[in-house]
Amino acid sequence: MNNVYDMIIIGGGPAGFTAGIYAKRAGLSVLMFEKTCPGGAVAITSEVCNYPGFQKIGGPELANLMFEHMTSLGVEVLFEEVTSTDFSQKEKVVKTFTGTYYARTVIICLGAATRKLAAEGEKAFMGKGISYCATCDGNLYKDKTVAVVGGGNSALEDAIYMSNIAKKVYLIHRRDEFRGDDILVKDVKKQPNIELVLCSKVNKVEGDGVLNNLVVENIPNKTTSNLGVDGLFVSIGRGPDTEVIDKAVVRNENGYIVSDEKMKTNVEGVFVAGDIRETPLRQIVTACSDGAIAATAAFQYIKTSK
Ligand code: NAP
Repeated sequence: MNNVYDMIIIGGGPAGFTAGIYAKRAGLSVLMFEKTCPGGAVAITSEVCNYPGFQKIGGPELANLMFEHMTSLGVEVLFEEVTSTDFSQKEKVVKTFTGTYYARTVIICLGAATRKLAAEGEKAFMGKGISYCATCDGNLYKDKTVAVVGGGNSALEDAIYMSNIAKKVYLIHRRDEFRGDDILVKDVKKQPNIELVLCSKVNKVEGDGVLNNLVVENIPNKTTSNLGVDGLFVSIGRGPDTEVIDKAVVRNENGYIVSDEKMKTNVEGVFVAGDIRETPLRQIVTACSDGAIAATAAFQYIKTSK
């Protein structure tokens, strides 16, 4: 007979960690899958300044504290990639490359994947000069010239982070005003080695095996110019990646999973929490809130559906 968990959590970020904490405290058996390192987007955020209780804390440090809190309560964690899910039966099926697992409830906490630029040559230079994580790869560019693309908080933070490592940082944004917080915009403008390249987009990425040039278009003028750089950090936000989730689960027109206020999806016993959910705000604190609500609703479901 199959071992059936009360709950499988897919994705180990703040939403999943909080769901795990609430589920274990309610006495459920819980298995979590995480394909890379625990923490999701938080683990690659240099500093978090808006999570209550911590005026300033490193993203990886906060992620570790949450992870340790959850595992101390006995959540089982498998560092495996989920490859498919089947929610058509009462016992939900979750498959990885190496095994098949069963649960009464599933909470989808997959977060959102980094967006790509769609510039010519981007694919070829991924990992050869193009990075989607300044805190992971920034140290490779000590005293070099780099560009950061984006106008949100991530790009502003990445530009500031890189200005302390690289010799020169170009911050390329497609509009003339930033989406990110004023406080960060002011900090960016204070750094002498950050140069703003506004109303511009990267059309092409070039190099000789390794990236060394960007073809940048000035959008209003429709002119292009070359920008010699050693590295390019793409910080243009994140989007949902629900490919491994059973097609029966309803997504909105942008691919985010739709739920009610209890984090229930349209499929019985399947819940969603965090950035992959259709929600007006994607923050650590809202992901945690979603996780707590989802685990509590899953507990109620298990109690009433036996
Ligand atoms: P974001 O807020 O969605 O910003 C994405 C940026 O990339 C926007 O400026 C957007 O331009 C630009 N962009 C999107 N697609 C593009 C494309 N194809 N080509 C060029 N530019 C493109 O994403 P984020 O900065 O990753 O932040 C995500 C969420 O996390 C936000 O809620 C943010 O506040 C939060 N966050 C908070 C902190 C913090 O509080 N410390 C740190 C990081 C992130 P437009 O502005 O023209 O749309």
